[in-house]
Amino acid sequence: MSYKLFIPGPVAVSEKTLRAMTQPMIGHRSTDFVALYNSIQPELQAVLGTKDPVYLSTSSAWGVMEGALRNVVKKKVLNCMNGAFSDKWYDVSLRCGKQATALKFEWGQPVDPEAIRKELATGDYDALTLIHNETSCGCMSDLPAIMKVVREFPAVIAIIDTVSSLSVLPINKDELGIDVLVAGSQKAFAMPPGLSFLSVSKKALDRAATLPDRGYYFDFVEFQKNHEAGMTPSTPAISLIYALRSKLDDIKAEGLAARYARHARLNQTVRDFVISKGFTLFPKEGYGSASLNCFANTQNIDLGALNKILKSKYKLVIDGGYGKLKGKTFRISNMGDETDETIAAMLQSLESALAETPKAAA
Ligand SMILES: *Cc1c(COP(=O)(O)O)cnc(C)c1O
Repeated sequence: MSYKLFIPGPVAVSEKTLRAMTQPMIGHRSTDFVALYNSIQPELQAVLGTKDPVYLSTSSAWGVMEGALRNVVKKKVLNCMNGAFSDKWYDVSLRCGKQATALKFEWGQPVDPEAIRKELATGDYDALTLIHNETSCGCMSDLPAIMKVVREFPAVIAIIDTVSSLSVLPINKDELGIDVLVAGSQKAFAMPPGLSFLSVSKKALDRAATLPDRGYYFDFVEFQKNHEAGMTPSTPAISLIYALRSKLDDIKAEGLAARYARHARLNQTVRDFVISKGFTLFPKEGYGSASLNCFANTQNIDLGALNKILKSKYKLVIDGGYGKLKGKTFRISNMGDETDETIAAMLQSLESALAETPKAAA
C-alpha cells in the first residue's frame, strides 16, 4: 500500500533522504562519526539561530521534552497549554514528580503573554514550557511576544517546543533568549521519526548540574560532555544522522529564506483553497500555523469517508482531527519537501474527493 502523507507528522520522506539512510554503518566512537557529527553542528546552529551546541537525541521529541523537565525544574514549572501536546506536557510534569501549574487556554486560542507575566510575577517558578506551534489544532502562538515577557524573569528557564515549526519560519534561539529548544525529525525536516534536536543554554546547563535526579539518557551534562568530543552519550540512530546530513544539504541548497517563503506560500495556497470550499480556519484569526492548516468541519462532511476516498483513489491521506477534535476538524500539512506542484496536485485530488464525500451522520 503506497500513499503520500499530508498529515502533520510524520510527513512524506523523499527518495533522496531514504537513500541517504542506506549508507554502511560506522562506529559511533570512530573518527568518521566525529567528522559526521561535527559537520552537522554549524548548519543546525544556523537553523536554530544559536551559538550553543545542538545535541542529537535518539528518541522522539517527547524524550527530550520530558528530559528537559528533569534537567531544569527545581521549584515549579508553568506549563502553558492550548492543545493536545501542551496539555500532555503538564501531565508529564506531574508524572516526573514536579510541582507544576497549568496555564490553560482553549484549544485553538494562542497562549497569552500577559497571562504568563501575571503568573511568573508571583516568583513561584523557575521554568516554563511552551509549544510554539500547537500541531493538534494548528495554532501558532506569538513566540517573540512571549519570550519578551519571559526575559523579564531571569530565574525562569524557558523550554520551548518548536517540534513542528523549526525550519518553517525564522526562530532565533539566542536572540529570543530561549534556554532549551526542542525539535523532532519527522515534522518540517521531513525525515523518518526517531531523532530529536536539543539545544541548551549555558544557564540551563548550569541549572541541570545542580539537579541530582536528572537521570542518564536525557542528561544535559552527559550530552555536553560527549558533544565536546563530537559524539552522543549512547549509540545514536546513525542512519537517521545520515538522513539529517542529507537534509541539511537540501536546506543549504535551497537557502533558509527561500525555505521559509516556500512554506508560507504553500500554507496560504492550501488555506485559500479550502476556505473557498466553504470551510473556516479552526484557530483564532491571526494565529493560524505556518506548518499546517487546521480547518473546522463547517460543512459537516464525513471526514472518515473523505480520507478513505483520498487514500484508495488518490493515494494520499490528510488528518481527520486530533483527539477531541476528531471529526470536528481536519488538518493538512505543508511541511517538508512540498512544492507548488505537489500542493496543487493534492488540492486537485481533495477537490475531486470532496465532491464524492457524504455528509456526516447526524
Ligand atoms: C509531533 C509533536 C510532538 C511529539 O513528538 P513525538 O515525536 O511524537 O515525540 C510534540 N510537540 C509538537 C508540537 C508536535 O507537533
